[in-house]
Amino acid sequence: MKKTYREILKWGDKREQKIDDITLNILKKIFSLSKQDLTEKHLLGDNEIKLEKKTSLSEVQINDLKKIAGDENIHTDDFSRANFSYGKYYTELLLLRKGLIANPPDAVIAPKSHNDVVMLVNYCNENMIPIIPVGGQSSVTKGVETPKGGIALDLTKHLNQVLEVNTINMTVKVQAGMFGPAFEKYLNKLGYSCGHFPQSFEFSTVGGWVAAKGAGQASTGYGRIDDMIVALKIVTPEGIIENKDYPSKAEAWDTYPLFIGSEGTLGVITEITMKIRKLRPENTQYASFIFKSFENAVYAMRKIMQADFGKPHLFRISDPEETDIAFKTKGFEEKFSNKVLKALGYLPGKRCLMFVSVEGDTRYTKFVKRQIKKTAKKCKGFYIGSGPTKNWLEQRYSSAYMREPLMDLGVMTDTVETAVTWDNLITLWKSVRAYVKQRNKTVFMSHISHVYSNGANLYFTFLSPTEKRNEENDYTQFHKGLIDTIYNNKGSLSHHHGIGRVLAPWMEAAVSREVISAMQAIKNHFDPNGIMNPSGMLGLK
Ligand SMILES: Cc1cc2nc3c(=O)[nH]c(=O)nc-3n(C[C@H](O)[C@H](O)[C@H](O)COP(=O)(O)OP(=O)(O)OC[C@H]3O[C@@H](n4cnc5c(N)ncnc54)[C@H](O)[C@@H]3O)c2cc1C
Repeated sequence: MKKTYREILKWGDKREQKIDDITLNILKKIFSLSKQDLTEKHLLGDNEIKLEKKTSLSEVQINDLKKIAGDENIHTDDFSRANFSYGKYYTELLLLRKGLIANPPDAVIAPKSHNDVVMLVNYCNENMIPIIPVGGQSSVTKGVETPKGGIALDLTKHLNQVLEVNTINMTVKVQAGMFGPAFEKYLNKLGYSCGHFPQSFEFSTVGGWVAAKGAGQASTGYGRIDDMIVALKIVTPEGIIENKDYPSKAEAWDTYPLFIGSEGTLGVITEITMKIRKLRPENTQYASFIFKSFENAVYAMRKIMQADFGKPHLFRISDPEETDIAFKTKGFEEKFSNKVLKALGYLPGKRCLMFVSVEGDTRYTKFVKRQIKKTAKKCKGFYIGSGPTKNWLEQRYSSAYMREPLMDLGVMTDTVETAVTWDNLITLWKSVRAYVKQRNKTVFMSHISHVYSNGANLYFTFLSPTEKRNEENDYTQFHKGLIDTIYNNKGSLSHHHGIGRVLAPWMEAAVSREVISAMQAIKNHFDPNGIMNPSGMLGLK
């Protein structure tokens, strides 16, 4: 059967998602889409995969690699190599739609064990063969591309088990290639939860969470992945790095944190020991509010985070454009309660939704919810019950499925994100909106979803009709301006997507030349032959 690029580019479990009629009508109006625009499909990627570039591994090398990992775990056919050429960055998806893969990996190898990884890394190091560690391939920063070919190391096929749950220390030791749902299900059966739920949860791995330094939707309460890790086991070309799971220590500086956010450039993370929490969904308290403006909602959020009465786990605010789109797509605009809200001064174009959940002991969750309600009320927030937050949680992973049908319509769609201190947040949000709105016909939605005492993240989603036949260029120019605007307004390059190859050009300016040269020295130590995820990552050579 013919294998197409579309099979690769689709998100997650590859289900075909349709844009619902309400959303389609909204887009039709905003983008002035004609009947032809709606019926004409754009760059579907349904042609058969054929790679021009053959594997550059010699027969001897392939046989040597087979001896390590086993015949059945090495693939050099076109589909497998194409399947491991890209992640989920917008231009990668465009290239797949056009059937363009200039630099596929030479082989895809799935190691059976930690020892296989050790032998493969040693072999590749001696033979100067690049290795790209790969988890769920959900990278949105070109982190799994293979510009120099080499081995795409598929950690998901075999290295996907929980090794130990320690209920005394409340920790779990897990192999890097385990996907989110299997991991959480395993822990839930024992009455625990991992507490890390990125939007890509369904199709990303624990190793990928660590390597790309991610944050989940409950990070305000549970912390980001870097707050959860107690120990790592990593295979580098220079040897194995493994730390003990002490609760804390003062043995000079720690080396394992260097690998959190290393994005495959220093070694292969094979095992992770992380904290777990008790699973007590029956205790969770939910609350939803509406505010008269984004400034108001942000003020309330800051007050809640700085009050020291406890923290929400999920904590989000949508800006007015995101709130309006949510109201429209959920059919809320027509409802009587919307009339009441408007009469009370919560107006479209200004009002903002806030979602909250608090997890833990039942007295604690009730107490924190009460305090949050009091603070929100003082800041003119209107309590709208627990329903909207619960509804949001039910569809928390689903918006990612809209990308394919939107791209089929010729709509450019992507997300970027940043971290910013409270004193710069509103200026940054306004500046980025002003930049995006210079472009004709855009939907531009912002939210805050990871909150700290000194600031928060800002997450931006944009949609706009693409310039057909100039898609990559159109996007790249627009995206560059977007990142420049974020950076010039004191936002970090990323809060949780990582850097990869996409944001690498900004790294030296963002972190300084001295920091880059320290990072390079560390890379040169662990990876003297430069085989680990080489070429253009993180601003490194
Ligand atoms: C729709 C969508 C929503 C997203 N939402 C979020 C979100 O809410 N929060 C968030 O944090 N991120 C999010 N992301 C980004 C992405 O899912 C995360 O970066 C995720 O942690 C990557 O995990 P993965 O298993 O897919 O890793 P991959 O994409 O396979 O790899 C990511 C990087 O880590 C390296 N790597 C992977 N595994 C290892 C390993 N074992 N050892 C060494 N290096 C390794 C790779 O070489 C690559 O550089 C989203 C992405 C998409 C497409």
